[in-house]
Amino acid sequence: MPLTLLREHHPLSSAVEQLKLLADTNGYSPFETRLDQAGHFPLRATGMTVFQINVGKLCNQTCRHCHVDAGPDRTERMSRETAEQCIQALAKTDIPTVDITGGAPELNPNFRWLVEQAHGLGRHVMDRCNLSVLLIPSEAGLADFLATHCVEIIASLPSYRAGQTDAQRGEGIFEKSIEALHRLNQLGYGQPDSGLTLNLAYNPVGAFLPPKQEAIEAQFRKELRARHGVEFNHLYTITNMPISRFLEFLVESGNYEQYMERLANAFNPTAAAGVMCRYTISVSWDGTLYDCDFNQMLDLPVNHGAPAHIRDFDPVQLNQRQIVTRNHCYGCTAGTGSSCGGTVA
Ligand code: SF4
Repeated sequence: MPLTLLREHHPLSSAVEQLKLLADTNGYSPFETRLDQAGHFPLRATGMTVFQINVGKLCNQTCRHCHVDAGPDRTERMSRETAEQCIQALAKTDIPTVDITGGAPELNPNFRWLVEQAHGLGRHVMDRCNLSVLLIPSEAGLADFLATHCVEIIASLPSYRAGQTDAQRGEGIFEKSIEALHRLNQLGYGQPDSGLTLNLAYNPVGAFLPPKQEAIEAQFRKELRARHGVEFNHLYTITNMPISRFLEFLVESGNYEQYMERLANAFNPTAAAGVMCRYTISVSWDGTLYDCDFNQMLDLPVNHGAPAHIRDFDPVQLNQRQIVTRNHCYGCTAGTGSSCGGTVA
């Protein structure tokens, strides 16, 4: 299994180094200039309808494109105290959706408690699941638990072919993913009228933009059904963000400049108006508040006067905050935009 950038002591494990690299716009305009030309600068929140909780960086996989630099050696994890502050903050609002992510969020000892509490408050809960975690012996009963609490699952699957999936997510991961998908289908996930939603997330294996969502969704449905008897509800396409391990991949493979230009050339003002940070608040494992999971990984907390820790959660101020934007934001505004809105484990 590859090591995380942090474990390798790689310079790009540092958010400061990533931001330095991203700030150098050679051959394209800075993101905020394009945003301004499109009449969207400064970008402002339009309210909060998604409460995203990133419970930490521990994961049982070390996928090549992970923007969290998650892996088995990461020790950052949300404490019960911070988890309780999240639920107290959530209870002060009517935010309808709670989106739990990581790492592999299920490996946090407070994951099930968070799901129970959010579900108990009547909120719709989403779990960004890497699928293989459902097969870990210590996580026995996890799939049933998710079904009992009607948790929507968003699972990453970059290909319906084993070779491509394993190349991005690790040796043997495709086979485990299919086994986990079968288990979820047996519980009713992805089946008509079950009320249990199973969505897949596709991100390109290389330095290119995702194809049109409808076409690739139809292709995945046909191939997964025919080859493996797997059913799912929807497939979302995600643009790989030029941060963390994908950034390192771009630099190492000599694709960085070309990829950034490709993202900038595909800037779409309509996608810019609808970026997820405008309706999301993202809480990190230590309780710091961010506009999105990507800003979280770049150490760019909410700014411009809004309170930046969950213990000071102030829905009125946060609902109208100015969003912190940098050049990685081109990943959200390219083409039709990333439709899935955030981390997929
Ligand atoms: S990276 Fe974050 S802040 Fe930038 S546009 Fe995307 S969601 Fe918004």
